[in-house]
Amino acid sequence: MQNIELFQEITHSPCKVAIIPHHHPDADALGSCLALSHFLNKEGHQTRVISPSSFPGFLTWMPGSESVWIYEAENVKLIDQFILEADILFCLDFSAYNRLMELEPVFRKASGHVGLIDHHLNPEMESDFKFWNIKASSTCELVYDFIEMLGKKSFIDIQIGECLYAGIVTDTSSFKHPTTTKRVHLIAAELIDLGVNTNRVQRLIYDNSTESRLRFLGYALQEKLTVLSEYHTAYFKITAGELEQFHNQLGDTEGLVNYALSIKDIAFAATIIEKSGRVKLSFRSVGDFAVNDFAHSHFSGGGHKNASGGISALDIEETEKLFLKLLREYKDKLEQAIK
Ligand code: 5GP
Ligand code: MN
Repeated sequence: MQNIELFQEITHSPCKVAIIPHHHPDADALGSCLALSHFLNKEGHQTRVISPSSFPGFLTWMPGSESVWIYEAENVKLIDQFILEADILFCLDFSAYNRLMELEPVFRKASGHVGLIDHHLNPEMESDFKFWNIKASSTCELVYDFIEMLGKKSFIDIQIGECLYAGIVTDTSSFKHPTTTKRVHLIAAELIDLGVNTNRVQRLIYDNSTESRLRFLGYALQEKLTVLSEYHTAYFKITAGELEQFHNQLGDTEGLVNYALSIKDIAFAATIIEKSGRVKLSFRSVGDFAVNDFAHSHFSGGGHKNASGGISALDIEETEKLFLKLLREYKDKLEQAIK
């Protein structure tokens, strides 16, 4: 960690700590924040996980999720005050200011020390201490490493372990991605030793769909998937009306993009989804096709080499046209990615 001495000096006495995941937190963002919060509470600090937006229902089982503050109209004042008074502001699983959304202005005004724990490429945010490794499978792996580095591994209990396991499982797609190192398996094994019921955590995350979510998946696969073999690309385009038709809830479209990537000889997968008045894109790839560069160059986004996202300033039809035009420009790179 950069500036570990500063972190240790500040946390010598009890601190007020705000812990912030990215907008629309996933299991890794929320799990890492909650795990860090439980750990710092055990050390005698006053912590609060503050999310820029709400999180999917399939994460509400996470220990401590009921105490997360969501930045919404009714509690803006309370949250602003906490952030302005905080001695430390931790940002987990992101390092770009725009992922703070409405929290960004008050965050920039705050005078506390900023700590980043993240595994995304090219951190843009300034920080006083940074625990950052793009090779890490997940931010949850990094929180485990962070606690271990502080010599406090014995503080990791079942509730911290459940949060960490959830982030590791989801960010590796259940130990599938190439980031799944021996160390990732060893950490998982240690969490099992601690008593984490890994089968229960996996079921709470993956076997927790509503009927309408599953029906939506069937509809999307049957009607909304476009496969462009000549570009080794497959994508889904989903309108706001279709989401409404299937009573879409937050998190229901998560993972959809992976179905497009599971097709043989597909190197690049995308979802183009109209939600909350915006057109949101998710990208996945295999091999050397860097979707974080793609998202950054064309959709004000970012992420990892093989998993990224962004937003479009155009409407959904124009966004699709732009996407198709870009595929033509990237044809050679897409061809190489599959080799
Ligand atoms: P997902 O497609 O699951 O929403 O996101 C995949 C990855 O891309 C995650 O690591 C996420 O943090 C990143 N990502 C998704 N959307 C955005 C975005 O709008 N901006 C940036 N910078 N990263 C994003
Ligand atoms: Mn992550």
